[in-house]
Order: sequence, then structure tokens, then C-alpha cells
Amino acid sequence: MTAIRLPSIDRLLRHPASRPLEERHGREQVLGGYRSLLDDLRGALKAGTLTAVEVEEGVLAGRLGERLALSSQPRVRRVFNLTGTVLHTNLGRALLAEEAIAAVTEAARQPMNLEFDLATGKRGDRDDLVADLVRELTGAEAVTVVNNNAAAVLLALHALGARKEGVLSRGELIEIGGAFRIPDIMARAGVKLVEVGTTNRTHARDYEAAIGPRTALLMRVHTSNYSVQGFTASVATAELAAIARAHNVPLLEDLGSGTLVDLTRWGLPAEPTVQQALRDGADLVTFSGDKLLGGPQCGLIVGRRDLIERIKKNPLKRALRVDKLTLAALEATLALYRDPDRLAERLPSLRLLSRPAEAITTQAERLLPAFVAVLGTTYAVSVEPALGMIGSGAQPVARLPGAALCCRPQVSKRLRGRALRQLEEGLRQLPIPVVGRIDADALWLDLRQLDDETAFLAQLPALLLPEIR
Ligand SMILES: *Cc1c(COP(=O)(O)O)cnc(C)c1O
Repeated sequence: MTAIRLPSIDRLLRHPASRPLEERHGREQVLGGYRSLLDDLRGALKAGTLTAVEVEEGVLAGRLGERLALSSQPRVRRVFNLTGTVLHTNLGRALLAEEAIAAVTEAARQPMNLEFDLATGKRGDRDDLVADLVRELTGAEAVTVVNNNAAAVLLALHALGARKEGVLSRGELIEIGGAFRIPDIMARAGVKLVEVGTTNRTHARDYEAAIGPRTALLMRVHTSNYSVQGFTASVATAELAAIARAHNVPLLEDLGSGTLVDLTRWGLPAEPTVQQALRDGADLVTFSGDKLLGGPQCGLIVGRRDLIERIKKNPLKRALRVDKLTLAALEATLALYRDPDRLAERLPSLRLLSRPAEAITTQAERLLPAFVAVLGTTYAVSVEPALGMIGSGAQPVARLPGAALCCRPQVSKRLRGRALRQLEEGLRQLPIPVVGRIDADALWLDLRQLDDETAFLAQLPALLLPEIR
């Protein structure tokens, strides 16, 4: 019996099966890949557990091919969001309109006038790329754009109130997912938080009593991910703005999702609009670009020109500013708001949010047989009414009626949890991962956001479900 030996790197590189790998992944990857593959095999070689077939050059090329395919797969992946939450922060929030995608592509491919004033040939201001549109759509005097709404709040607070006091109702001390807490942001901005009122009730007189010589601003925060019900009182923007004006301090309103249109037009629950907050007298309003607005991740600060000028001079603005791709997407998204009649056709997130329940139910019934065929007898699949959500801190208690494919494991109670996890994992491992929701002993696939039925169905046969025992 001849001893088993590993082939040399040279021999492996000369093997015909290495050529396509080199063409695809580059020589460095193939060379490095063979080295680590051989390293990995040396242990088994010493232990005498390798067979002659396992060290054949063609076999090793095949193994390297698999490794390289896996390691070169992008970590950024498309998924099917069937959670029922449309603006899902963990799944990327708003989907861009085609117009915005085209603008991003153009800005990415060519030099552009990011900070170059084409009228004068002098240095320009990147905020000016969207300023006219924002003024036209919101009625604000001025705007500045930063990385996200958390940044907008941090920057506005720092520019207006560092080393001074900010007055805020106890009912609005919010925490947003991912550790955005108003008291912490205030502290980081150097603003001393003066809490007024109680969790459920805050009155105008509470603010009046808290305003003193060190007060730099009053703040109002949209309670975007919870709702206080029952014996409650809060001070509306208009009334608070009057108090702020009487004491000559600005009112900053953090709207969060900040929509620019009346959503009830599409059968959705009403959200406060940016225009209304400004009309009611808020001096500055902050909101996200990728929530209900339907654009790229960014934060907008709009309002009084003198305050925006102050904010733009703050050194933090430079650290928090947005890039050309964001501004390109934002401008194109905002431009769609000039024609609200076609908004739901062109803004994907709004189109999905406003899909009628009947259409979703019909779709679920259409897909049911394919699902039953794949899940066999281990799971009972049915079409059930389902309640979705807007997500991202808009209307936390409002629900969007739709339909879901509901998969219930047909196994003993003891195995039910495992069966659900296996199905959840199997769906997540598909070429285009499918993300659903486990609730009440079933896996729910809310179809509100299933646009690409063909791709969804095409990959179903690849679903791997181990036997459950
Ligand atoms: C979502 C939200 C934020 C944070 O916005 P990001 O764009 O996620 O940074 C801040 N305040 C309110 C009220 C929000 O709803």
C-alpha cells in the first residue's frame, strides 16, 4: 500500500479544474484557498483518516470551489419580508422608488454638483440640493439633512441647548429600538433635561412653571412606538408653541416618521404631518427619511432659517452630514410628492401599506396549493386573516388588515416548538431568505409585501426540512 500524500500547490494550480476558479475568484484567492485547504487536511493525514480519493487534485479543486463560492457570497442579501411589518428597521425600512434608484445610480456613476453652485461656479452647499423642494413641500424656511433622525435630534439639541436646559414632558421620554433614548441623547447633546408633568398627564402650566433663565428650548417628541391611553392629557403643538413664543425660546418637535401627506387618503391611520407641525408653530421639526417618507436613511431638520443657520455652523453637522447618494435618492423621493395623486403607484412602501386586504387574501389563496405541496403533511397550511403594522414608530397601535399563510405543525405538543423553529430556519436558509413571524404555535407569512411571486415560488422546492422527531 502506498502512503497517501497531499499534492503540491503547483500541481493543484496546474490542474484544469483550477482555471475556472482562477477566472472567477482571482489567482490570490485560489492560491490562498489551496494553502488553507492543505493545512486543514494535514491533521487528517497524520491521523491516517484520509483516503486516496480525498486527495485527488480534481476532488480538492471541487472542495475549493465550494469554499470560495461560500466565502464570496455577498453578506448584503435580498430577503422576503413577510413579517407583516412594512417599515421594518431590521430589514431595511423603506424601499426606494424607481426614480430614486435611477438618481442614485446616476450620482454614483458620474461626477456631480454635490457642493458646487452651477449658477456662480463657486463652492455650494449640499443641503441646497433639496432645499427648494423641502421648502415647497413643507412650508419650512430652511432645511439641513443629516445621517438619520437620531442625528437630527442630537444635532438640533446640541446647537440650540448645549450647557442649558431643555423642557420635555415625562410622557414623551421615549426609547426607540437600538438604544435611542431621549434622556441619553439630551445628555450627549449637553442639554440638561427638565422633565415636566407625569407619565400620563402634562399641562401647559407644567411647562410654564419649568421655564427659567437657563431654558434654551422646549421639546415635543412624537410617542411613536407606544400609546398612553385612559386618563391622559398632553399639550398640543400649537399651544406649546404659544408658550415658547411668549418666553422667547424655540420649540423643537421630533416627529419621528414625519409624513408629508394625509395618509387617510389611502385608508391608513392619520400621522401628524411636518407641514402641520410647522403651521402649528414648531420652530424646528425633525423626521426620518426612510420611514413613512419612503426615501433613503437620513434625518431632516426643517424650520426657522436663523435656527437652521446655527445648526449648520455646529461642528457636529460636518460629522453627521449625508453623502451624494443619499441626497440624490432624497431629492428624487421628495419630487414624487409634487404629484400626490400618483404617490401610491410610485412609492413602493406606500403602495404596500395601502394594499387592500382582499388583494392580499386572493394572493394567499393563489399560493396556498404550492405551499401545501411543499410542506406536505407535517404542517397544516391555511389562509388566515392577519394584522400587519406600519412599523418604524408610526402608529404603534394601528393594524393593517391583510392575510397570511399560516403554517401549523401537525406533531405532538412536545415537538411543536422544534417543528416551528425548523420551518423558520428552513425558510431563512433559502436562496432568497424568507422572514416570517412565529406566533400562537404557528408560523405566519404575511403576504402584504410579497411582490415577486415568481421568485418566491421558484425557490420553494429548495426548502429543506429535516424529519422531526
Ligand atoms: C424613529 C424615531 C427616531 C429615530 O430615527 P432614526 O431615523 O431611526 O434615527 C427618533 N425619534 C422618533 C420619535 C422616532 O420615531
